[in-house]
Amino acid sequence: WNVKSLEALPSAPDQVVTNNRLGDDEHFIQKIISTIKKLQPSEEAFYVLDLGLVSNLMDTWKRNLPMVQSFYAVKCNPHPDLLATLAAQGSSFDCGSPSEIESILALGVSPDRIIYANPCKASSHIKYAAEVGVNVTTFDSVDEIEKIRKWHPKCSLLIRIKAPDESGCSFPLSSKFGALPEEVSLLLQGAQTAGLRVAGVSFHIGSKSYNFQAYKTAIEAAKEVFQEAARLCMPPMHVLDIGGGFVSEPSFFEAAAAVVKTSVETYFSAEERRSLKVIAEPGRFFAETAFTLVTNIIGKRVRGEVRQYWINEGFFGSMMCADPKTLLESCIALKCMYNNSDGIEKNPVLMVCGKATGCARTYSSTVFGPTCDSADKVLEGDQLPELEVNNLLVFLNMGAYTSACGSHFNGFGSAKITHLTN
Ligand code: PLP
Repeated sequence: WNVKSLEALPSAPDQVVTNNRLGDDEHFIQKIISTIKKLQPSEEAFYVLDLGLVSNLMDTWKRNLPMVQSFYAVKCNPHPDLLATLAAQGSSFDCGSPSEIESILALGVSPDRIIYANPCKASSHIKYAAEVGVNVTTFDSVDEIEKIRKWHPKCSLLIRIKAPDESGCSFPLSSKFGALPEEVSLLLQGAQTAGLRVAGVSFHIGSKSYNFQAYKTAIEAAKEVFQEAARLCMPPMHVLDIGGGFVSEPSFFEAAAAVVKTSVETYFSAEERRSLKVIAEPGRFFAETAFTLVTNIIGKRVRGEVRQYWINEGFFGSMMCADPKTLLESCIALKCMYNNSDGIEKNPVLMVCGKATGCARTYSSTVFGPTCDSADKVLEGDQLPELEVNNLLVFLNMGAYTSACGSHFNGFGSAKITHLTN
């Protein structure tokens, strides 16, 4: 394999979006390349799912947050092999819909390992949860209390509060969910009057957060809700659900975990901690780095110094929720030809697109997805090496909110086939 020396390429300037895989883990890239090499030649885009990495991430989680039970957020990536691996490693699950609940129950996971973490649910969906024995859900509105009282009165509730600080995340959630501080007391009283048990508090600091202090301020706010429940003479709360937001880069995750641990110890006394159950709803942490997307360049146009390429995945497939800068950082070009009878060539040249300054010659390039809509762009005006039809564009870290968000617009869908590796 003719791998252009990765070390020789300059490091990316922005720490936050730097994909540590590209700089540090050449072995990982080689593993992906050899997986591609083993595959039958195919023009289709496909995913490679690294289940060994998922297991390692679970070890990392347990080492850093041993007192926090993970409820994997199925919405992030519901791939059955990912779900089965996480279930086998002891994870519980955050489901947002009956169909997600069904997929977890189908794995043989008991319903008491599921939290229905969607604060606003259709009545028929609440009824379904009651029927299958999913007995914990979140809420943040008065109307939700009435629906739960009517359709699932034995359900335990977690009051979802708005995290006080959502700065530093890439995907904020609080414009839609989370009770405001001034709404909390009325919501607790409403649940009390309805005869429902409020077992604790949940929050989400926003997805892909690099502001770890946000866990501290949210845990402090959650403690105030525990105190308000006590003032209202409600049965003591005992669940603290710290949501998602975690990234898997080791140093960032360790820093976030340290803030969580210290904050729980600061705001909950040793006596309170004895009965406290801390849970989390990580999605991105487990899914993002485990999936690699391999796409094929299916078209090219040269306009003077500008290059335009078409690949067989795009905005309406796996890239709807992707940040273009992150896509560029995690993109590798395999300059090799897919040959329909022999597969890929023996000696493809590998180029890290986000660091294309290391290449001999680059061009301002746009990469389109396959549909007929002009919004279907993956990269725009980025410096890429000269590529050809049938070269491959490989995107690392494509497991979070990618295929899960894909549509079937124009009859394409997102990459369907997933090859497993470990
Ligand atoms: N929990 C809830 C309620 C969510 O809405 C989300 C993401 O939208 C998650 C958990 C997962 O968050 P993340 O992928 O940041 O871990």
